[in-house]
Amino acid sequence: MPVRLVNRAGRAGLLLGEGVADLERASGGALPADPMAALAHWDDVAAFAAHADQGAAEDDLDPRELGPCVPRPAKVFAVALNYRTHAEETGMALPEQPSVFTKFPSCLTGPAAEVRLPSAFVDWEVELVVVVGRGGSRIPEGRALDHVAGFCVGQDFSERRLQMAGDRPQFSLAKSYDTFGPIGPAVVSLDALADPGDLAIRCEVDGEVVQDSRTSDLIFPVPELVSYLSGVCTLEPGDLIFTGTPSGVGVARRPPRFLEPGQTVVSTIEGLGTLTNRTVARDG
Ligand code: ZN
Repeated sequence: MPVRLVNRAGRAGLLLGEGVADLERASGGALPADPMAALAHWDDVAAFAAHADQGAAEDDLDPRELGPCVPRPAKVFAVALNYRTHAEETGMALPEQPSVFTKFPSCLTGPAAEVRLPSAFVDWEVELVVVVGRGGSRIPEGRALDHVAGFCVGQDFSERRLQMAGDRPQFSLAKSYDTFGPIGPAVVSLDALADPGDLAIRCEVDGEVVQDSRTSDLIFPVPELVSYLSGVCTLEPGDLIFTGTPSGVGVARRPPRFLEPGQTVVSTIEGLGTLTNRTVARDG
């Protein structure tokens, strides 16, 4: 079966149906307990998962036990304006090459974690997140997917006031407050997906659908991003690429709309699962 790798209380686990198996224990010690090490041995993990049966699950999954499925990536790339509909709603011209910033890894959190709001200007952005498996540099587009371990769901929470403060926009800082990067619930290998280039992607706030699109609307699709980024930086196992958000963000609405404490943000991508994040006041 395909790989669905989770981080349960800091240990690598495999989702098997409704249950979870601890990767190290289930493999008799042959595979690592550290989720980052598991990503660096992705081919071995995939070979093991191919023969794992559901009976190997030790417990039912409790999403609250899950940390970010990739806890300590060396790099977290993020792409601005990568859906045609989102570029249109912001009034910006379609980019001719990817516009890239970073989310610092300390912002990553689990799929059911609370999101702490530092202000009244925090916005939602559901995103498809690419997880690098095999590293490399100057990867040709045609071989890019060989370097991808899988995908997960991500939220690129954004503080819009800081993002636009100063002479130059501060995307990296404004999107890196602690808890601003929920990812998960699992790293899902591409063989689990009928068409990895065309997945339904949706965000709901308190049950209201605010974003609803498909990843086939990406201006720069995943293979192009992997090739482009690896032409600059050597990619390493576990590196993440937040690929951009579709239309429907709060800042583009008239009047603008932002998150308040006590709301629930549900982010879903077809075949990958769901993040459910409740908002709380940072200083509350
Ligand atoms: Zn984004």
